[in-house]
Amino acid sequence: MKIVQLQLLHPNSKIFPTFVSRTETFDSGIKPGSNSKKIMTKYIFVTGGVTSSLGKGIISASLARLLQSRGYRVTIQKFDPYINIDPGTLNPYEHGECYVTEDGAETDLDLGHYERFLNTPTSKANNITTGRIYQNVINREREGAFLGKTVQVVPHITDEIKRNIRILGESGDYDIVITELGGTVGDIESLPYIEAVRQFRWEVGSGNSLVIHLTLIPFLAAAGELKTKPTQHSVKMLLEYGIQPDILVCRTEHHLNTEIRKKIALFCNVNVNAVVESIDASTIYDVPLLMLKEQLDKTVLAKLKLPHKSEPDLENWRDFLGRLKYPKSEVRIGLVGKYVELPDAYKSIVESFIHAGAKNECKVRVEYIPSEQLTPENAIDQLKGLHGVLVAPGFGERGFEGKIEAIRYVRENNIPFFGICLGMQCAVVEFARNVLGLKDASSEEMNANTPFPVIGMMEAQKKIVNKGGTMRLGAYACDLKKGSKAAGYYGKTHISERHRHRYEFNNDYLKQYENAGLTPSGVNPDNNLVEIVELKNHPFFIGTQFHPELKSTVANPHPLFINFVAASMAYAGKR
Ligand code: GLN
Repeated sequence: MKIVQLQLLHPNSKIFPTFVSRTETFDSGIKPGSNSKKIMTKYIFVTGGVTSSLGKGIISASLARLLQSRGYRVTIQKFDPYINIDPGTLNPYEHGECYVTEDGAETDLDLGHYERFLNTPTSKANNITTGRIYQNVINREREGAFLGKTVQVVPHITDEIKRNIRILGESGDYDIVITELGGTVGDIESLPYIEAVRQFRWEVGSGNSLVIHLTLIPFLAAAGELKTKPTQHSVKMLLEYGIQPDILVCRTEHHLNTEIRKKIALFCNVNVNAVVESIDASTIYDVPLLMLKEQLDKTVLAKLKLPHKSEPDLENWRDFLGRLKYPKSEVRIGLVGKYVELPDAYKSIVESFIHAGAKNECKVRVEYIPSEQLTPENAIDQLKGLHGVLVAPGFGERGFEGKIEAIRYVRENNIPFFGICLGMQCAVVEFARNVLGLKDASSEEMNANTPFPVIGMMEAQKKIVNKGGTMRLGAYACDLKKGSKAAGYYGKTHISERHRHRYEFNNDYLKQYENAGLTPSGVNPDNNLVEIVELKNHPFFIGTQFHPELKSTVANPHPLFINFVAASMAYAGKR
């Protein structure tokens, strides 16, 4: 098998001839650097070694933020080495939240970090999985595009990976494309990506790409020492695959002294200034400043032969950090959901609270409440003392009735409430049962035979059989009712927000709701779908069919989160 032979190749990527002859048997005509003249965009690859969860996404986003703050146009792309076509069909327990882009791609949660740090949207081109790569290649094979050739991992899968790296670069929209390779170097499933990066670098020529390897420097308490050996081994493994990393970003709990930096540099063939310390931080939003201190941006620009342009403009970022770290008050907000054991399942919501809290100079203490455990009897005990309650998005029956109970409690007690997607649908069901007197009202998702389907399946969804990528996904326009609370919060009446759902508010019941005080204050202008409901006589009671948390960034905290936190502060008597 050719991919296995790769491991037997020489350990130094700088020596190209071995690869030339090998590559030419597949793809003759390509010479080292042969594409370099056409290259306007520079490419940075971020790999990970030693262990998973080192925070490649945050390092990528932080570096991108620094380069952006110097005036470069930067985007970040993530390759995920699993076989699902996208994470849309994954249970949140597997990889956390599924993040949705403007163009309706269901993606990895790291894309949320990219958007929150850069304040620029990503798209389906920013997240590619092995499943997608293989699907594209296999579809082309069925079309006969390979003209009778044997279709193989090398070159066909690696070519498809390279094509996906180039898509963003060739769009002309970016000066620098950062590609984060999911997984850890040494994983079987990462091999085609590493090989594609090796080939890609050879094709674009020196000075047009670089590899940043993120690694771990563990501290052995018994020895009282930081240990470099795992890093050495992981770099050695990369070298076996033909890649010499240019920069090592070392995750550590203790500062790296000069001696240890020199040691890492010597054994891993990099300059001492290319050994970058990434010390544990109290918030991910510190990381850009930590990387600035380590001069990661300067090292990257030098290696890519790019000018420094201006000094990084991080004034707003520092202002945000100041507000985040020195809040003047604190509120407790309950997050009612069914995946609360794994806070990554609600990543964007939690980050939105951080942005909105900083804006209000208020620390938002998010308290996770498992919806399954909420009953009419214990709702008071579980929710008392909270200054606001957010009912989370979700799918399926588990925990549904608990969410309804939480909403009844906060509606009746004038506690600020924010319902997102399923959370909004639960608010509609709760109101039907307890205010409109429609006993056994429900969503068709939970009870297909309910006598009052106040939430029904969207017409367009009824014929759909496949689960992946078939929901109402991505950005849709929404018109807000003039004079509504929602319009007040947004400060405008035309908005666009991102969606991910199959069920909708049933407009047959619209009049009953309006008459009883739960108003549809946001409606899709094209098909009249209700996108926001709000309660008139309540300090803050908003349900959104869309996901506002997907658009909150450090530079632009979301107005609904800002106002929800402000309402919770008012409830707590802190405003
Ligand atoms: N399960 C609901 C639907 O499909 C809500 C989805 C969600 O909360 N994202 O409509």
